[in-house]
Amino acid sequence: MAETPQAQPAGRAGLRKELPERFRDYKHVWVLVEIERGKVHPVSWELMGEGRKLADKLGCQLAGVVIGPKAETTKTAIRQTYHYGADVCYIVEDEALTDYRNEPYTQVLTDLVNKYKPEILLLGATPLGRDLAGSVATTLQTGLTADATELAIDDDMCLGATRPTFGGTLLCTIYTLNHRPQMATVRPRVMAMPEPDTKRSGRMIWDNLRMKEDDIITKVLEFVSDNTSKEANLAYADIVVAGGMGLKNEANLALVRNLARTLGGDWGCSRPVVQKGWAPAERQIGQTGNTIRPRLYIAAGISGAIQHRVGVEGADLIVAINTDPNAKIFEFAHLGVVADALTVLPALTDAFARRLG
Ligand code: FAD
Repeated sequence: MAETPQAQPAGRAGLRKELPERFRDYKHVWVLVEIERGKVHPVSWELMGEGRKLADKLGCQLAGVVIGPKAETTKTAIRQTYHYGADVCYIVEDEALTDYRNEPYTQVLTDLVNKYKPEILLLGATPLGRDLAGSVATTLQTGLTADATELAIDDDMCLGATRPTFGGTLLCTIYTLNHRPQMATVRPRVMAMPEPDTKRSGRMIWDNLRMKEDDIITKVLEFVSDNTSKEANLAYADIVVAGGMGLKNEANLALVRNLARTLGGDWGCSRPVVQKGWAPAERQIGQTGNTIRPRLYIAAGISGAIQHRVGVEGADLIVAINTDPNAKIFEFAHLGVVADALTVLPALTDAFARRLG
């Protein structure tokens, strides 16, 4: 259950005088290491980097929670958890945890929280993380801030989780003042990926799943890969080319795809392009779509509204092509081309094809 949104840290003064006595037992920052089909989702390491900063500010330990089957991939995930900054790893291995299912995962995580009492619990805002965070927060009856874009510790040593509100026009900072742990999910690519230190290691704490396969209602009969989302790996692409309403029609999106293909990158679009049905939702970039952090982002015919900007401002180099010299995108693009995208995109594709081909 989420707490009422409050204003920025200063506006919170006086809401709570002292930490209730029962909170004293809650210590340390935890990050769920999300493993699906043997692969750790990179958002886990992005959160580990952020969790490290929070733990250092609180003067406590950072722990990773690794849940999965007894397998080589789980062992690798445990080693990596230390490399990305954890001091401790809580591990629950069980065959019943091979594929993600809400019931056993909720059981494991809530049992661990009740037993070891973390102060903060972070999960990726992925389909798995969103599903699990909601049921864990509900079971524990604590506060959860979904899709946080910033995490900070305030003067009272409480977690302030900031996220957009009112359609992205305002930012609010949400506190969990009366419950523990303080929970938040963060979308992939919102936090920077830390550099791993392969010399680091740490403590392991093993626990068990207190549930038998027969007690679990959901059974995984077959795994059918979703090829569309596999195709779109925008969040982690090094080069992204995107098109907006300035492209005029669906057919012109081919110009964006051609340039992306020539550069070995991926392609995306603004929200109205998805709303028009010109591109599938997984191609959308921005506040309600993907957050990207490529080395190069080329935006063609995109005005640069705040809801788009928040999803791209982590890019190293932003190149904007727009016919309007006063377009908002030129306020944050590193390079601006005031020209018709329908002419510039094919010209760039030809030039790069000649150079790279
Ligand atoms: P427009 O605003 O119509 O801009 C088109 C641009 O193309 C203009 O700047 C124009 O000068 C330029 N142009 C026209 N012709 C050409 C040409 N031939 N060559 C070059 N340039 C040309 N938007 C997102 O993108 N992502 C989101 O996740 C998102 N989430 C939202 C969430 C909420 C709650 C709300 C309220 C809005 C959200 N939006 C989002 C919408 C956002 O506010 C803007 O409406 C949207 O980003 C505008 O898309 P656009 O730039 O493609 O279109």
